[in-house]
Amino acid sequence: MDVDQTRLREHLLTNGMFGGIESDEGHGRTVLTGSEADRQAREYFLDQLESLDMEVRVDAVGNIAGRWTPDSADPEAAPVAAGSHLDSVPRGGIFDGPLGVYGALEAVRAIQESDRKPERPIEVVSFTEEEGTTFGAGLLGSSVAAGQRSVEDALALEDNSGTTLETRLEEIGFQGEGRLDTAEWDAWLELHVEQSTELEKAGSQVGIVSAITGLTQYSVEFVGESNHAGGARMAGRRDALVAAAEFITDINRAARETVASGNSFAVATVGRADVEPNATNVVPGRVELGLDVRDTDSETIAELLDRARQSLARIEREHGVETELTELHSTAPAEMSERCRQAVETASTSHGIETLELRSGGGHDTMNVARETDAGLLFAPSRDGISHSPREWTDWADCAACTLVLADAVATLAGAE
Ligand SMILES: [Zn+2]
Repeated sequence: MDVDQTRLREHLLTNGMFGGIESDEGHGRTVLTGSEADRQAREYFLDQLESLDMEVRVDAVGNIAGRWTPDSADPEAAPVAAGSHLDSVPRGGIFDGPLGVYGALEAVRAIQESDRKPERPIEVVSFTEEEGTTFGAGLLGSSVAAGQRSVEDALALEDNSGTTLETRLEEIGFQGEGRLDTAEWDAWLELHVEQSTELEKAGSQVGIVSAITGLTQYSVEFVGESNHAGGARMAGRRDALVAAAEFITDINRAARETVASGNSFAVATVGRADVEPNATNVVPGRVELGLDVRDTDSETIAELLDRARQSLARIEREHGVETELTELHSTAPAEMSERCRQAVETASTSHGIETLELRSGGGHDTMNVARETDAGLLFAPSRDGISHSPREWTDWADCAACTLVLADAVATLAGAE
């Protein structure tokens, strides 16, 4: 089995022209859901699916799937699917998403041109609005396909101008019917750029993800008493910002201790602080912090939140403030399936391609799919770990090597000898 690096490159470069931006730093693009660039990217993708005689389907939220049913396959068998997304952040790169979509397309072509005989249909998929840039909800299309959000709720989401996803999809001709259902897939693989530097450091071409990190976000409120910075004596103060500062230090220490105790992936971040009244000459009366805690293990996340609560209890006693911890968002960690990981590992070994097992700190559509069926995630090296930027880059040889592994693993999962 072989993939055509030139063809893959042409697809990625052509796709990269839709919403393409001027940049001295590299190839950049802005493909927001429902935009003209999105329409162009989708139409080009449909053309490519049809050129491989795939049966194309667009669902109600604009997810696109092309199905190839080889002569060797049982048409009723659950398909093996692979893909990613075609949308981007503003001024994003040309690999984040499209590598997984066009890699999957090239994988199908490679299997078609090989003597492998899949026993299951194979689907190539592009999910709508993975980045969450336009409608405020990341992993949107896959959340609908995996049954975690209803079609109606998704279509009713509004962009900044108050226009719904339904209208935007209608405008570009991609509001289809029904719902792509990931539970109907036998297995799923996504190829994605790593967006970090572990592969580069290890000199490996393929990353095999063992688990995708879970994420919880909380708002932490501190209510003390505003007072005059000159008039209020130090002894009687109930300074909400001093209390918040101690909390930031505590949660940072808790995460460091967790890492030191052997779990190297836990992170806790306070990335937002709203201070009231936020004036130099006033003792702060109220502070709201945004807390983000992630790990690939739910228990570790729970332990860090326990530490956060203990810290708040102590701070209430010592500073005379009131505190409140409110959950804003929570996504459980997702384990990748052993069967999918093994297929990727075997494929890499048989082509002499070096792999590295790693965990994914960022969320991907695979996170949603993994809750419904066996799922695997492969990473391609990102130069300097940069993504969401025109500087995002993956060498063409690495794109091709990962695509070859994807093709081989998909064929194996689909029962091809
Ligand atoms: Zn992505």
